[in-house]
Amino acid sequence: MAPHGEGSEEAMVVQDENRKPISSILIVIAMQTEAMPIVNKLQLKEDLDSVFPKGVPWVRYHGVYKDLHINLVWPGKDSTLGVDSVGTVSASLVTYAAIQALQPDLIINAGTAGSFKVFDLYGVGSRQSFSTPNLLKELNLKAGKLSTGDSLDISPQEEASIVANDATVKDMEGAAVAYVADLLKVPAIFIKAVTDIVDGDKPTAEEFLQNLAAVTAALDQAVTQAVDFINGKCLSEL
Ligand code: SAH
Repeated sequence: MAPHGEGSEEAMVVQDENRKPISSILIVIAMQTEAMPIVNKLQLKEDLDSVFPKGVPWVRYHGVYKDLHINLVWPGKDSTLGVDSVGTVSASLVTYAAIQALQPDLIINAGTAGSFKVFDLYGVGSRQSFSTPNLLKELNLKAGKLSTGDSLDISPQEEASIVANDATVKDMEGAAVAYVADLLKVPAIFIKAVTDIVDGDKPTAEEFLQNLAAVTAALDQAVTQAVDFINGKCLSEL
């Protein structure tokens, strides 16, 4: 006999959620340079009546694109130093506040990242992102394990841990977004465009800045294609 009771009811609810069309997406991006091409492409407008606490630098852009409500949040410029609020602390806070205020069906953390010369490593996820086999195939993207740390440069300890865990891409926000998304049970996917080769010959900061403009164009394209693919689909079809 099929089991009854709470367990199976919960499973049914999850299944139903996965089967209804996705209607609201939250895109979390760390840098203005990464965000603006996507804001422009999807014709999002800045929110003038913020859903966030008064005084925080966090910025929200929103709009309707095809059948989707899209919110894009960016943690803004550090109020003292004027630089983008990159890193895990602001990424987790803005993700938390945005989920609470906007209740998205799906989160996309989009951004740039460093990669490694060796690509033939496979990932063993310590925090599994939402699985999107069809999206990967359709967009012809590579899947890999992402390592997050609060520094652009790599320390020997971080390198050892990246190697030990078979990570192939390195950023400064992904794990923070994954943590909050998992905490609040919102599926999350991560789209990263590579600006620099961490174990290459060039200094990372130099290579990052050199490639940033070209790579944000690639990121914009990948995110737009992903949003187009997601439009009209439910989670289980991704
Ligand atoms: N110099 C910039 C800061 C860049 S921080 C400034 O002045 O504001 C780098 C950003 O790009 C982070 O958001 C991070 O997620 C991403 N990134 C790109 N390449 C990276 C790498 N090799 N390691 C870590 N993060 C990287």
